[in-house]
Amino acid sequence: MKIITISGLDGSGKSTQISLLKDYLESQGKKVYYFHAVDFSLANKIAGNKSGESKSVTKAGWPKIILRRIFLMADIMRFKSLCKRLKKENYDYLLSDRYFYDTVINIKYLAKNDKKLPCEKFILQPDTSIYLKADPEIIMQRERKPDQGLEYLQDKKKLYDSAAEAWNMQIIDGNRNKEEIFEEIKETVLI
Ligand code: ADP
Repeated sequence: MKIITISGLDGSGKSTQISLLKDYLESQGKKVYYFHAVDFSLANKIAGNKSGESKSVTKAGWPKIILRRIFLMADIMRFKSLCKRLKKENYDYLLSDRYFYDTVINIKYLAKNDKKLPCEKFILQPDTSIYLKADPEIIMQRERKPDQGLEYLQDKKKLYDSAAEAWNMQIIDGNRNKEEIFEEIKETVLI
């Protein structure tokens, strides 16, 4: 089973591209599992958020940041068991809308600290890990824009840009139209 992940800023177009990719792979007869890193997270479940809904947190004190780090470590381990089960069930692809990388970046943003987290080394390396790199100014002009605002996106983009290199992510220019982006994603995934 191949693990394909798309990371990037809120509003950069991750869900749009995951959905296009899922439809495409299924049209080719592939068995595809859709994975949403936030829906899967224990932190999100404990917060009582329903599927597809997560409150955007832009500030947190130390106790909450430490809790998030503990939950993330638990999620990374739970994900490994999920992958084992999916392999047994003969899935061809797991498509991940956001990944643990995005959660690490959120924690670093909240902690205002770019230092490596201990749990990072336990994250399962995807077969293809994409960073959909879009400019905050362009995202803010889109139909449905993130409620956290421009400055938040600009600060987070700095974290994404440096992390993408450290994690060896494939950078895809997200400032183009959906179809152009999808063509490049398809090529990247099918190599
Ligand atoms: P994310 O999952 O990264 O938060 P979405 O895929 O939900 O982002 O897209 C956010 C908004 O931007 C939606 O209204 C979507 O239709 C729009 N959108 C997505 N990709 C593009 C694009 N390449 N160009 C213009 N608008 C886009």
